[in-house]
Amino acid sequence: MADKTIKVPENVPGPYYVDNECIACELCVDTAPAHFKMINDGQPHAYVFKQPENDQEKDACDDAMGACPVDAIGDDG
Ligand code: SF4
Repeated sequence: MADKTIKVPENVPGPYYVDNECIACELCVDTAPAHFKMINDGQPHAYVFKQPENDQEKDACDDAMGACPVDAIGDDG
């Protein structure tokens, strides 16, 4: 389960986030490219660059959360 106390700093404010357990597999970016991006400075990891604004976008973020192999994506909404 993702932990909001260890969010990566690049996440934009809002319910969805990536925490620092991310192993940079890029599955979330493949699943929801309108919401997740990789950053390759220092330790590579994903982050949320755009929060969902409708049910379709929430579904995409939920799919990414389900795809994450290490449960590094959280929904604090
Ligand atoms: S799916 Fe999970 S582990 Fe893979 S890049 Fe995204 S947040 Fe990181």
